[in-house]
Amino acid sequence: MSHDLFEAARDAMAFAHAPYSKFPVGAAIRAEDGKVYTGANIENISYPQGWCAEPTAISAMIMGGAKRIVEIAVIAEKLPLCPPCGGCRQKIAEFASPATRIYLCDEAGVKTTMTIDELLPHGFKTDVLG
Ligand SMILES: [Zn+2]
Repeated sequence: MSHDLFEAARDAMAFAHAPYSKFPVGAAIRAEDGKVYTGANIENISYPQGWCAEPTAISAMIMGGAKRIVEIAVIAEKLPLCPPCGGCRQKIAEFASPATRIYLCDEAGVKTTMTIDELLPHGFKTDVLG
């Protein structure tokens, strides 16, 4: 992974709205159009109404006109690693191929690289999308 995706995720983390968990998280996607789309977690006082950094980045990607995740970096302040939660794995898989790389970062850079297939080996699928 090029260094820019880690830096983009780290920079996105600064926009987190995490007054309840106190765990800011940032995510950065490189899409098939070559552009980088970022997101942060946005919490809500009604806790289930908040959401993670990954869907914020996916939303930015979709609204930017891209459809496919080439690679994605995730970083969380105060956590050694922040693997995407179960729901986010399914959300990432929707726009990824099994070999799409997920970079789990700390403040220094990428610590672990995994594929979405490794993180979600038996995700929900139908043949609707072909
Ligand atoms: Zn999540």
